[in-house]
Amino acid sequence: MQTESQSEIRVVYATLDVKSWMGALPSAAAVRPATCPCCHAPGCAVGGRVTLQGHGLRFRTQTGLDAVDGEPFDDELATRRYRCRSCGAVVTVVPAGLLPRTRYRPTTIVLALALWALGGLASAAVRRRVSAARTVAHEAGRGWASLRRWTRQAWDWWRLRRPAGGHVSGREAVEMLLQRLSVRARDGTGNLIADAVEAAAIFDGHGVCATPQEAPTS
Ligand SMILES: [Zn+2]
Repeated sequence: MQTESQSEIRVVYATLDVKSWMGALPSAAAVRPATCPCCHAPGCAVGGRVTLQGHGLRFRTQTGLDAVDGEPFDDELATRRYRCRSCGAVVTVVPAGLLPRTRYRPTTIVLALALWALGGLASAAVRRRVSAARTVAHEAGRGWASLRRWTRQAWDWWRLRRPAGGHVSGREAVEMLLQRLSVRARDGTGNLIADAVEAAAIFDGHGVCATPQEAPTS
């Protein structure tokens, strides 16, 4: 059996969204994965023997903005960990709508990109708008880098078709991104930003659910 330090940490997305998850943290049994993502053993075998055993909580710091006219928040979200008794893998279960390797939620990222690309705000102003005060100090100067990184990564996060050929500037790219995202809104309102925000929150980790994501980089 592998020790924890040797094994890769796998991430599995629950169907619960961030809001429901934070409203009432689900029990270890409620969100135990059906199978181990590494060895595919059943999480809880017939007869009740638990293979994916609860392995405590891990806290992830979250920061951001929930609405265009909202106040930036800072909070912590508890994720559930499991340890596979069959292969030793450590599995983290997170709610749908939590992006890998960033402390910002999809809503915040879309709002920040919209404020920058459509609202014409400078990146520093966007950073001040979406970051709660105590996170700004150590992130000073990184707002611009985050906006550009999100503009590059968002296509993969939501599996959107990138613009074909030619150079597309940052703000133009964001506008296309928001348009392509907004058509996926389940309850489309016709408002580009509102629809893009709604669609962005539907993130369940397709294709990224097996990567380590313990340390947010921005
Ligand atoms: Zn396993």
